[in-house]
Amino acid sequence: MSDNVILIRFGELYLKGKNKDYFENILKDNIRKKLAGLDCKLYFGRGRYVVKDYDRSDESAVIARLKQVFGVHSVSVARRCGYDMDEIAALAVELTPDIGSFRVTAHRSYKKYPLDSLQINKQLGERILQAKPQLTVDLHRPDCVLHVEVREDGDVYLYDSSERCAGGMPYGTGGNGLLLLSGGIDSPVAGYMLAKRGMSIKALHFHSYPYTSQAAKEKAVKLARILGEYCPSIKLMCVSLTEIQETIHKQCKPNYMITLVRRFMIRIANEAAKQNDCGCIINGESLGQVASQTLESITVTNAVADVPVFRPLIGMDKDEIIEIAQKIGSFETSIEPFEDCCTVFLPEFPLIKPTVEKVEEQEARIENYNELIQKALENIEYIDL
Ligand code: ATP
Ligand code: MG
Repeated sequence: MSDNVILIRFGELYLKGKNKDYFENILKDNIRKKLAGLDCKLYFGRGRYVVKDYDRSDESAVIARLKQVFGVHSVSVARRCGYDMDEIAALAVELTPDIGSFRVTAHRSYKKYPLDSLQINKQLGERILQAKPQLTVDLHRPDCVLHVEVREDGDVYLYDSSERCAGGMPYGTGGNGLLLLSGGIDSPVAGYMLAKRGMSIKALHFHSYPYTSQAAKEKAVKLARILGEYCPSIKLMCVSLTEIQETIHKQCKPNYMITLVRRFMIRIANEAAKQNDCGCIINGESLGQVASQTLESITVTNAVADVPVFRPLIGMDKDEIIEIAQKIGSFETSIEPFEDCCTVFLPEFPLIKPTVEKVEEQEARIENYNELIQKALENIEYIDL
């Protein structure tokens, strides 16, 4: 009797320390939740998790879902049989191709198995050659590497390939971060990158309704849902910047518009982060991409945050960011043509090198400064995803 299983591999490094159980329990839970609704059984062994008893027609769905679980590094579809050498050999013969070269690589986590890894390699190699004499053995650059894993629980797994998955750390092991989620290409990728390192994501979107449309807000909702495939129970909050932008527009110099708006955004985000148990802000800035992302501009906006601001894309080119956006499935939504609140009251010549001193001079013109921030925070809208 043999059947198909899916082997799940997770990173070894971070699982070695004292926190091994903590990380593993969260990873197991995330896998369980991700596969909920699919008819299959999950087994959590030492160093390996295995999906068993699933319907073959669900195989690609199981793998697609596992690829969205951070901490899963690779998966293999394997054939399973018992310890009997004839059974193992029959499967080995079946799995090797009919032409070319091969190698058997056995791994024995069940140390009491009567044969050691080298003996298994040798015996299986011989049995394969008996059945398929046209094949050759090549230990260095074979066309097919047949892996054989002898596990403690009576199972033997055979497979010839593995698929890379997202890698990273289990979601929920890296603290909470507040992602500034625009409707653009960059910010969903920024959220993905820190979620991949285990950070739980809450998202904050600014709009300037009615200057920006309802559709622009819907786009942020769609992006949050896409991120939700990787970030279980992601939350989305929406904040209106309309009154703040109108006030700046009336009272400050036009070329300070973007810098001032961004400082308001960071101030609001800073408070919202604390109110929502987030230890940092995450944004999608990349050095030099636009005027508001020069070192000087970033220094001036950073100055109003007292939680750390993480910018996982700071050293990336746009095409590198787009590649990830395509991989995670956010790109097509991001390029839908809806305006962002940053484009409202856009000056002809935005400042490229603002200074804190000059920006504060402009901010001093806004008397009801704190009230504007308080009002924005009080009116945060929590969106049901
Ligand atoms: P993106 O593609 O993510 O929109 P961008 O290149 O358009 O980025 P900016 O508009 O300067 O760059 O925004 C830089 C970062 O500021 C964004 O990545 C995002 O984190 C944040 N941001 C911009 N607009 C908004 C918004 N409307 N709501 C929330 N965050 C925003
Ligand atoms: Mg943008």
